[in-house]
Amino acid sequence: MNNEEFDDKNEWHCNADLIFGFVCQYCDSELYFDDVPNCEPDKGFGSACVIISSEAQKRGWKMLEELSFSCPECSKERGL
Ligand SMILES: [Zn+2]
Repeated sequence: MNNEEFDDKNEWHCNADLIFGFVCQYCDSELYFDDVPNCEPDKGFGSACVIISSEAQKRGWKMLEELSFSCPECSKERGL
């Protein structure tokens, strides 16, 4: 469980809010709400953004800059 609240200054939360997940800057990898267990936007959009953000970071996604992310494979390849 994650009790963290949606934070509009958190770039991860904002990105999830904007595009409903994360897309890799380098390849076609994507992570969307559907890909994450217990991530149910119908039950609370803000909390779904929080859940997917922590899951993305747990899986090894990296933030390159604002609204720009790298998937675990590309991050590893580039030593991020
Ligand atoms: Zn990638």
